[in-house]
Amino acid sequence: MKHFILACLCAALLVVSGPGGAAPVGEPHTQAELDKLFLSVPNPKVAEEDLRVLTSAPHIAGSPEDKKAAEFVAQKFREAGLETEIVEYKVWINYPSEVSVDVVAPPGVKMHGPRPERVSSDPYQDDPRIAVPYCGSSPSGDVEAEVVYANYGRLEDFKRLEQMKVDVRGKIVIVRYGTNYRGVKAYLAQQFGAAGLLIYSDPLEDGYFKGEPYPRGPWRPATGVQRGSIGYSFNLPGDPTTPGIASLPGLPSAQRTPPQQAEMPKVPTTPLSWADAEPILKHLTGAESPRDWQGALPFTYRIGPGPVRVRMHLKQDYAYRSIWDVIGRVSGSVYPEEWVLAGNHHDAWVFGAVDPGSGTVAMLEAARGIGRLLKAGWRPKRTIIFAAWDGEEHGLMGSTEWAEQHAAELDRTVAYLNMDSAVSGPNFGASAVPSLKQFMREVTKSVPSPKGGTVYQAWRAAGENPQQPDVTGSGRIPVVQLRADVPVGDLGSGSDYTPFLQHLGIASTDIASSGSYGVYHSAFDDMAWFKRFADPDFAYEQEMARVFGMEVLRFADADQLPYDYENYGKEIAAYIRTAQGRAEKTFAKPPSFAAALEAAERFARAGSAVSEIQAKDASEITAVNRALREAERALLLPRGLPGRPWFRHAIYAPGRYTGYMATVIPGVNEAIDANDYQGTEQQLAALTAVLARAAGILERHR
Ligand SMILES: [Zn+2]
Repeated sequence: MKHFILACLCAALLVVSGPGGAAPVGEPHTQAELDKLFLSVPNPKVAEEDLRVLTSAPHIAGSPEDKKAAEFVAQKFREAGLETEIVEYKVWINYPSEVSVDVVAPPGVKMHGPRPERVSSDPYQDDPRIAVPYCGSSPSGDVEAEVVYANYGRLEDFKRLEQMKVDVRGKIVIVRYGTNYRGVKAYLAQQFGAAGLLIYSDPLEDGYFKGEPYPRGPWRPATGVQRGSIGYSFNLPGDPTTPGIASLPGLPSAQRTPPQQAEMPKVPTTPLSWADAEPILKHLTGAESPRDWQGALPFTYRIGPGPVRVRMHLKQDYAYRSIWDVIGRVSGSVYPEEWVLAGNHHDAWVFGAVDPGSGTVAMLEAARGIGRLLKAGWRPKRTIIFAAWDGEEHGLMGSTEWAEQHAAELDRTVAYLNMDSAVSGPNFGASAVPSLKQFMREVTKSVPSPKGGTVYQAWRAAGENPQQPDVTGSGRIPVVQLRADVPVGDLGSGSDYTPFLQHLGIASTDIASSGSYGVYHSAFDDMAWFKRFADPDFAYEQEMARVFGMEVLRFADADQLPYDYENYGKEIAAYIRTAQGRAEKTFAKPPSFAAALEAAERFARAGSAVSEIQAKDASEITAVNRALREAERALLLPRGLPGRPWFRHAIYAPGRYTGYMATVIPGVNEAIDANDYQGTEQQLAALTAVLARAAGILERHR
């Protein structure tokens, strides 16, 4: 701690007696001058050098190389002038000790996997530190059984198999990646009684069907494997042995759930390349699979069971392992207790050039830009915190544990700004809570695009089809999100905003520049792939550093916080009307949605009124801002969602059967899905209550 105090003093001295030209403390810069100075800092050469360092070795969470990556980030934060600390947690995670998948029948069919990830040329593929492909959170197990093909492993796929009288109990189920989170596949395999689960990358998903495989093109080669966690993070992210509390190194073991009792997957599960999956799929007999279950391999996919039998041998090395978050801070000069939090993880399954290196590097460049402003004498009004999370890949460990540790202080946080796989190509996209969708558009209007014009213009020109909620219906309110503007997506799960938004009710955003990314979670997500296919000139790294930094600056210095609750209320009203339509199809006599709809409309009206306030003095600004901040917090359900109390947000949760995609007004929609009339009524009442509370908070400041 001493170290941080010294760092503070030095920074202060530097400002006071600063080098020639630095503005004295307190001298106002115009917003335009600050923006210009900040935007001039992010540099492609520096970003490339940083990415080279970060991808020089595989750095899975808890490894010595992962600790080195944390130390590198910490050093960069300090150089930028941030008060920096490395925070350690001890979390229950697994490494692969022995992994084998063998075809044992019928005679003549041979496969001994997983075979190593190899292509004709890649400078990093022979690194002995590359861990064998495996699934985080899988149990160990020895299973030999007949194989059944279950498409994507969705709920409807398992139900379809039931209709076809194919029993998966005691079988090894093989499913392909796509459409849902792999942990949902594992969860359903468990519910339906499978003995083992193989998840493979079909070339239809991200392989030759899409284009040239690596190294000739960016798509997944035959031996490329998608590693990944199957943890039940849609029920509980973070360390499964410490729900709701931080896994600090000194935590008494009595306060931890014994791992055997923790909510973790029960079916041994491991990932495969299509090259290893092909002999299995090709020799299945039984019924032809439904037409839309057919992948891109050149034969007719059949369901089985058998005659292919597979033996899976998985020995997982579980332990409480140290992980290291890096936290860098600049104290605010006017509202120091209000935090602007911005994060990206630093752990990777292997080299992690795109995931997460491209985001880490953009964050480092944004931090360097903030550092440049500090050197020029600027101080943010609010406290800025940059966070490089660890253990994200194993289940949002570092962000969740930190959020749980700091829940009370985080109550005054104004926004959580996330990146993850920030650059895999040239297509900008953003997701946000509805109150920050317009904010995202405004920020991108202030940043130049490598394509010319602004990021906003390029984003809009890309004209991708909006991923809108289904808002057909004859509501009384015109839906604002339908205004002809670039669509901003909804936040589901799968990255580090989850604890901040869905557990603590902090307004969040997530940004990425994406492209033809066929090497996700494989050994080939390395510097060689990145330089050829993602961002050869690091121009998009520069763009992302600028957008991310501008988000931070806007929130750090805004007098009145930029939330748009009118839009939020209108989007919620649209979600409610859609749910009503679903309820009308589900129940003979559906419960009344009128009160919930009225509460959402009241929330929208209150949001509109509050946005018209012109605060006259500092105390009024403080009061309005408190209301704006607390309105998002008010959307938390006091008792959380049914069956998963850690998830408290009434509007957004990861879908229980999709895992990554957002389920909107999850309590209500999941009760409808379950055909539960009483539950639907209860959840409508709970939703109405939080909306009324949120509206009330804003109304007091009209
Ligand atoms: Zn990631």
